[in-house]
Amino acid sequence: MSHFWEVKTLAEMNREEWESLCDGCGRCCLHKLEDEDTGDIYITSVACKLLDLKTCRCTNYTSRINLVPDCLELHAVSFKEYQWLPKTCAYRLLNDGEKLPAWHPLISKRENSVKKAGVSVSDFAISETKIKNVDDLEDYILELQT
Ligand code: SF4
Ligand code: SF4
Repeated sequence: MSHFWEVKTLAEMNREEWESLCDGCGRCCLHKLEDEDTGDIYITSVACKLLDLKTCRCTNYTSRINLVPDCLELHAVSFKEYQWLPKTCAYRLLNDGEKLPAWHPLISKRENSVKKAGVSVSDFAISETKIKNVDDLEDYILELQT
C-alpha cells in the first residue's frame, strides 16, 4: 500500500498529514545569511530565540509569526521559497520530487532516529539569546546551503 506522501502532492495533503511530515530537526530555525552578490545561502549554528534546543520545537508556535517576522510559514509562502529549507527537510524533498529518507520518523517509526542520523540541531546549535551580538552571525557559519 502506498503512503500518503507518495501519492499526494503537498498541496493535496490535509493538515494532519502535512504536520506529520515535519521531523522536528530544527534546521529551519537556524539563522541563515544570504550573499547579496551571489545569492548563496549560508547556514549558521545560531538558532532562533524561540527554539527549544532540547526538543527542537518552537516554544510559541501559535504566535511565532508575530514574534519572529522572518519565520518561514510554509503554508503561506510559495514553493519556490522552499529552497530556504535544508535539503534534509521532508517538505523540500517532496517538493523536489525526492523520497523521504529511511531515518524519517514516518518510515523509521521512531522519533529519535532523527537525532541518531545526526540531522537534529540539538547537539550543536546555540540559541541567539546566548550570543553577544546577532550582527556577528558570520562567525557562526556552518556550511553553504545546497
Ligand atoms: S527543517 Fe523541515 S523537517 Fe526540520 S523542523 Fe523545519 S520544517 Fe520540520
Ligand atoms: S519562530 Fe519558532 S518555528 Fe519560527 S524560526 Fe523561530 S523557533 Fe523556528
